[in-house]
Amino acid sequence: MNIKWAVVLSYIELLNRIKDQTRKDTNVVTQRLNAPQPDAVIVGNRTVWKNFSVIASALRRDPRHMMIIAAKELGAAMTIENDGRAVIYGKKDSTSIKNVMNYYIKMYVTCPVCGSPDTKLIKEKKILFLVCEACGARTPVV
Ligand SMILES: [Zn+2]
Repeated sequence: MNIKWAVVLSYIELLNRIKDQTRKDTNVVTQRLNAPQPDAVIVGNRTVWKNFSVIASALRRDPRHMMIIAAKELGAAMTIENDGRAVIYGKKDSTSIKNVMNYYIKMYVTCPVCGSPDTKLIKEKKILFLVCEACGARTPVV
C-alpha cells in the first residue's frame, strides 16, 4: 500500500470512529435520561413530532422552552398541539430532529461540569441557569 492510500484510509477510519463515538454518546445520554428517541413523520409540508411532550417531560423540561430552541435550530415555525404533539412548519428528516434533540440535551439538560443529566433550568433576574442536582454547579445558558 502506498502512503497516499494509507492516509486516506486512516482518515476514513477516523471519521468512522468519530461517528461511532457520537452514536455511543447519544445512546448513553438518552438511556440515562430515560427519554425515548424522537418520533416524527412528514405530513405534506409539515413535520409532526409525535412524542414531543413525552420527551420534554422525560427531560423534565417545559415543552414551550424546548419548542423555542427546536424551532430556532430547525429554522422553522413550530406549535404544540393540545395532544402534546409538535407541528413543524417545514419538512424535516429524522436526522435533523435527532440533531436538534441532542443539541437541546447537550445545552439545556446536561451539566457541563460533571456531565449529569439531573439538572433543572431556573430563571433568575432574567438570566437562565442550568442548575445541577448532582454537583451543584450553576451554569448560565442562553
Ligand atoms: Zn454537575
